[in-house]
Amino acid sequence: MFQNDKSYAENLDLQDELSPYKDEFYLMEGAIYMDGNSLGLLSKRAEQTLTDVIHSWKTLGIDGWMNGNHPWFYMGEKLGEMSADLVGAKPEEVIVTASTTTNLHQLVATFYKPKGKQTKILADELNFPSDIYALQSQIRLKGLDPNEHLIQVKSRNGRFIEEDDIIEAMTEDIALIVLPTVLYRSGQLLDIERLTAEAHKRGILIGFDGCHSVGAIPHHFTKWGVDFAYWCNYKYLNSGPGGIGGLYVNEKHFDQLPGLTGWWGSHKQKQFDMEHQFVPANGAGAFQIGTTHILSAAPLIGSLEMFQEVGMEKIRMKSLKMTKYLMELVEYELGDYSFTIGNPLENHRRGGHVSLEHEEAARICKALKDEGVVPDFRAPNVIRLAPVSLYTSYVDVWEAVQILKRIMDGKWYEKYENKREVIA
Ligand SMILES: *Cc1c(COP(=O)(O)O)cnc(C)c1O
Repeated sequence: MFQNDKSYAENLDLQDELSPYKDEFYLMEGAIYMDGNSLGLLSKRAEQTLTDVIHSWKTLGIDGWMNGNHPWFYMGEKLGEMSADLVGAKPEEVIVTASTTTNLHQLVATFYKPKGKQTKILADELNFPSDIYALQSQIRLKGLDPNEHLIQVKSRNGRFIEEDDIIEAMTEDIALIVLPTVLYRSGQLLDIERLTAEAHKRGILIGFDGCHSVGAIPHHFTKWGVDFAYWCNYKYLNSGPGGIGGLYVNEKHFDQLPGLTGWWGSHKQKQFDMEHQFVPANGAGAFQIGTTHILSAAPLIGSLEMFQEVGMEKIRMKSLKMTKYLMELVEYELGDYSFTIGNPLENHRRGGHVSLEHEEAARICKALKDEGVVPDFRAPNVIRLAPVSLYTSYVDVWEAVQILKRIMDGKWYEKYENKREVIA
């Protein structure tokens, strides 16, 4: 049962079989890092594989494509194989390439084929702006008007999107559905399996943005029949700033010609034939466009090793336990300070972070940073706190809440402006 004292947290750490992984990471000195859902921390293994790849470049020059510890030519495929279990896919269904937004463009360019009555894309009104911009521009590229052809399911409370509302919006004019697995602000986890089944009943293709779930939550994309997905590797997967993205295509679509073709999508044996007839790879590899961003991919090799070792079930179990503990502490310690917990309370609907709402959120975040807790702020009023299974301890969670309590008790946030920085 929950207790509010530090020894309770210390005990949880003693029982935690993932606690040794904390030493695998470079933790920021004097700070409790709660922003791993925005940019994960550097691990020693990620640093090592990046160093290995730089060494190949230094010592092998062009021959690094085929030689060295991590031959560059196959890096996207290798990382795809290593990521497959994280999303519940077959190795050939996943490729690591490009950026999240570029991968979304590629997938929508491939799977959005307005015809007859089915001309619209269904999304939601709470998704990350980049996803919405991409959908709008893909609609424009088809000569259609996004105001008419992009349908965004409304939120009833500004935090969550109800699955029932999404299903009701799956009308006969919808050609394609693109939704987040976990909403970036409130941390709501959608019922991917149910939504996929309902879309397919109506003959609609469906894809998911896994930026806020891959590396935090297990997925079963292939079992659930999800048509496609894409995600970030620099958030929960700790691949580093600008780290390249992940892309999943269900094998039932391997006969589809990618919407945006480029030579890196070629069949590997044919790529250097330099023919002008495109021969695609058999699998998600076909959806690559240009050369893999090798230096942005290299850290992911070392990072994914740890996820393979531990497995997503254990990572999810600890994450749920930590977010629950964090919410219990907030309720216990901060009950007087009008915080609202803006994320779902139920385990099956909660992602990897806690979303605290407060009207002074922007400046509370500034105070937290100055006092040694790294949160992030999402306008207008959300403090996101993500305890990350591989490098956050229960004592970290406990201490972060004590610091927040001191800030509130002393109104320390009042010396800051209640406005966000350029990067929030
Ligand atoms: C982080 C994030 C992105 C970022 O996309 P990039 O192309 O990597 O800049 C896009 N969508 C969502 C939902 C995100 O959380």
